[in-house]
This record gives sequence, C-alpha cells and structure tokens, in this order.
Amino acid sequence: MPIPAQAASLAPARLTVDLGAIKRNWQALDRITPTALTGAALKADAYGTGARQVAPALYEVGARFFFVATPEEGIIVRDLLPDAHVFVLNGLWPGQSRLYAQARLMPVISSLPMLEEWLRYCISQGEAYPAALQFDTGMNRLGLRLAEAGDVKAQLNASGYKPQLLMSHFACADLPGHEKNRTQLALFQSLLGQFPDIPASLANSAGLMISKRHHFQLVRPGIALYGARAIAGRPNPMAPAVKLEAQILQVREAKVSETVGYGASFSLQRDSRLAIISLGYADGLFRALSNQPNKPGSRIVIRGQKVPLVGRISMDLAAVDITDLGNNLPVPGEMATIIGKDVTVDDHADAANTIGYEILTSLKGRYARTYRDSGTDGS
Ligand SMILES: *Cc1c(COP(=O)(O)O)cnc(C)c1O
Repeated sequence: MPIPAQAASLAPARLTVDLGAIKRNWQALDRITPTALTGAALKADAYGTGARQVAPALYEVGARFFFVATPEEGIIVRDLLPDAHVFVLNGLWPGQSRLYAQARLMPVISSLPMLEEWLRYCISQGEAYPAALQFDTGMNRLGLRLAEAGDVKAQLNASGYKPQLLMSHFACADLPGHEKNRTQLALFQSLLGQFPDIPASLANSAGLMISKRHHFQLVRPGIALYGARAIAGRPNPMAPAVKLEAQILQVREAKVSETVGYGASFSLQRDSRLAIISLGYADGLFRALSNQPNKPGSRIVIRGQKVPLVGRISMDLAAVDITDLGNNLPVPGEMATIIGKDVTVDDHADAANTIGYEILTSLKGRYARTYRDSGTDGS
C-alpha cells in the first residue's frame, strides 16, 4: 500500500518510478519491431512498478495491447483504459466466462477444456467474444499441445469462431544461442501453417531483441520496459526506471574481529565504520544479498560511493561497511541508494543469484512511492 503523501517523511524508504523511462523503453522497442504491433506485459502490477500508473503512461505513447496474468489484474487495466485490448495470460478461470466477457478481457486459452468452455459461453450468448489461443512449443508451462491442433481446428470450424491471436512463448530467449529458440520458432511456424489467417505472437523482450523472425504481428515485451536486462551477458540498452532509497538510521564504529548481525556470520577484518539502513528483507532486500563466506555482500551507494552490505540482512534493517568513505560521513536521515543509475536491478540480481524480474516484483516494502516523468522521445 502506498503511504499517503503527507506521511512520506515518515517512510523509511522511497521508491521512485520514472514513467518517462518506461515510455521511452516502449518507444525504443516499438521502433525495432516496425512490422509488428508492440504490446506490453503488465502482470504482477507491471513488474512491481505499478500497473495503475504504467498502463495509462504506455497508452499515451501508443500501446494498445496489454498482457496481465489474472482477471483481477485485467480489470484494473480495463477500468483505466476502456478501449485497450487486455489479454489474461493465465487463461480462463473455470466458471468465469461471463466476467471475462463483461470486462472485455481476452483469456489466453491454453487447453481443450478451456476452449470448450469459452466456445460454449460464446454460443450461449450468440456472440464471438475475442480470445487468444496459446500452444506450447517446448516450455511445458501453459499451452495446448501441438498434437491437439487438429482438435482445435475442428472445434473452430464447427463453431465458426476465429481467435484474435495465436501465441506461444520462448523458454530460452535470454540465451540467444540456445538451440531451443530455433526449435520453438520452427514448431510455431509449422503451427501457423495450420491456422494461416490468425495473427501470431511469439516474442517477449529477449525474443524480439534476438531476431526479426520472432516478431510476427505482435510482440509482448515486459522486463525491458522496466529497464532491466532481458538478455544474459549483453549490455542492457534500456533506460533504468526504478530508484530505491532508504534512510540511514545510524553510523557506528566497530572494532576489528567484532561480528555484524544475526548468526555472527561476518567478522570485521579491520576497525570499521558501519551505516545501518532502514530496509530489510521484508522490503524486498533479499537476505541472499548479504555477504556469504565466499562472496561479498551486494553494494549500494552512499555519498556517491559504492559500499558493501555486511552481515546478514535482517527483516527491517541492514548494515553497510562505510569505512572506505573516510571522513565523508553520512548523517542519520540521509538517504542511501539501493537501486539507481550506479547500482542496477541486475547488479542485485547477480549478487542474489536470481533475475531482475524477481528483484523488481519483490519491491513491495514500506516505501513512499512516487512517480516522475522524465519525458518521451517525442517531447
Ligand atoms: C511475462 C511474459 C511475457 C513478457 O516477458 P519478458 O521476458 O518480461 O519480456 C511475454 N509473454 C508471456 C506469455 C509471458 O508470460
């Protein structure tokens, strides 16, 4: 829950989302996919950045096709954007066809029973409510099996129903050289041969970046819009969209060989100065970002310099070794930058042995959330 503006000064931390950066990222992806429509994945509250703010911002620069995970998320977008096209990736909730139709949500249909339920509802209403069909081409997550294409075709022919979109999803697009990308593309193309007149969509952020052949009629970027890295091992061209700062509560002196934090897992190698920040794992600062026996803690920025987290991160607090700042000492109340231009979502993802997606979608802490707009490419 966002803390009301008047209480912002009581918040231990501040999350700032730059809607301008998200808009420019969308425009950049739209430019590199000139033959396809560019959609946007808004699931999980726009990857933690706030779907209520991000959806209208993207609409303003031209986005019309939005992908959410659940019908509840879809209704949020529908209420804000009456003429947007909203796809629900996790499909049709059993027994909820009427709700989807009334809210004009398009289920991404991923099984024969789901297709049958939707067609039954459409026939009962005498109306072909739009939906997408998803086939699995090698991920074994959601999706009709390719062997079911004949049954699907028979059902579509019998009912005269034409889906809006035919979809599949890459398992390994973040690894451009992975042979599964070629296999999935080939399977998807042969599937399209069986459904020649339905618009197609295959690519997420990484998929659209690695080859034009993945673009088809609609691309579905998510992570790249929010500024995080889509492709492992390549420079990230996207603009960072999130800044996270936390209050420094205390600066303390500690002696060599003293330990820091729970478990006494970290012993100081020298007389040290520590800053204690008001942010912990309950705020999305993963415990895995603590220093480990063979790995330093993740770094944050204080007074313009990168400094490491030390000891185990607690629920509401973390310690930072600021000895190297010398006399450039922060004062209590000053903000430390946890995520910003010098420390990225992906720096922390690497330090925690996870992905930027998980860092972003975990930013649900006790923050004062603010939105800014650094502008679009056209303004
Ligand atoms: C999340 C998701 C996307 C967006 O993926 P990114 O890697 O964030 O670009 C696209 N399509 C499907 C089916 C998804 O689940």
